[in-house]
Amino acid sequence: MNILESLKDKLLVADGAFGTCYVGMYGEQGTVAPELANMRHPERVLEIHKEYVKAGAGLIRTNTFAANTASLDADTDYVISNVRAAVKLAKQAAEEDVEAADCVRTSDAVVTEADESGTYRKKVSVAGDIGPIPADAGLTLNERVSQYKLLGEAMQDMGVDIIWFETFPEFNVLEPVVKHLKARKNTPVMVSFCVNQFGYSNCGFSARALLSQVAGNQDVDCVGFNCGVGPYHMLQLLKKLDIDCGKPVSVMPNAGYPKFTQSRLVFNDNKEGFIDKIQDIAALGADIIGGCCGTNPEYIHQIMERVKTGDIAKAAKVHVEKVQADSAVKDNFLKGRLERGGAATKNADGHKHKLIAVGLAPPVRQNKS
Ligand SMILES: [Zn+2]
Repeated sequence: MNILESLKDKLLVADGAFGTCYVGMYGEQGTVAPELANMRHPERVLEIHKEYVKAGAGLIRTNTFAANTASLDADTDYVISNVRAAVKLAKQAAEEDVEAADCVRTSDAVVTEADESGTYRKKVSVAGDIGPIPADAGLTLNERVSQYKLLGEAMQDMGVDIIWFETFPEFNVLEPVVKHLKARKNTPVMVSFCVNQFGYSNCGFSARALLSQVAGNQDVDCVGFNCGVGPYHMLQLLKKLDIDCGKPVSVMPNAGYPKFTQSRLVFNDNKEGFIDKIQDIAALGADIIGGCCGTNPEYIHQIMERVKTGDIAKAAKVHVEKVQADSAVKDNFLKGRLERGGAATKNADGHKHKLIAVGLAPPVRQNKS
């Protein structure tokens, strides 16, 4: 069964973070990209994938978030070999589990198939993960587009179940890429964006604008939001969006917000709070749930526990009227200030007060999923 067909009536629980999970298990933060392990330490990569499969994930993403020439400081041949190695490892972890006796029969979260004897088997989907190539890495827009195409082609040829673009701050760079990939092969495509707690991406696009742009694109099959925010802010954001957009929606928040401890980024452990919010996110109608930075297989295991009890389940999408969204904009603080007299406004005492806008950037290298 195609992953898109199974999403029509099933909630899919995906995996959690790879990068922060790898760093938690093997150290090396900030010194070695976890993606290099696809070739240097394949057993470590396989182990993390297997942990997620064992926890109940119905979809695992390849360890290729930063597998590009700029982030790995490598040539195209190396990067493509790295991607091929990564897909092979993820497929190995997914396929080994197909024969597992402990398939989750009570859950509708994992794609299950019954053979002639009525035995259910877990089928774990493999997503080919592609993260953004850093815009300041010296590659032109055309070079980045060409490289995304090459990465996607390699993943299609390796037979991934879905190409999974994630943590993107814009769709424009991907539009020609997804068009090219879809014309080449009909592998489903996910585009997942990263926004901050105010609902804006690093490129200044609002979550609403990104969602509607992708909802109207015929080459993209699923849309989502990942990273950038913890589960509380993700839930608040989703409540204001119309996720009833005609495509399956994936939601993967970070575990929370990281703190620097002894020059390491550390996420506070608040699984219970995370899973409560994931439950609310599922109730809004999310089709795919999982975790980003700071999450690990234990988070997915605990989500699956609630899937088994029915507390986390597939729900009809909550439709948010556009009218409501417009009135929210009307009450926007910034818009009000600007309408009352431009960027400089007078206080009651007659002093001019300038309106100052500041940008908040997420901590460096925390958006590695
Ligand atoms: Zn992340």
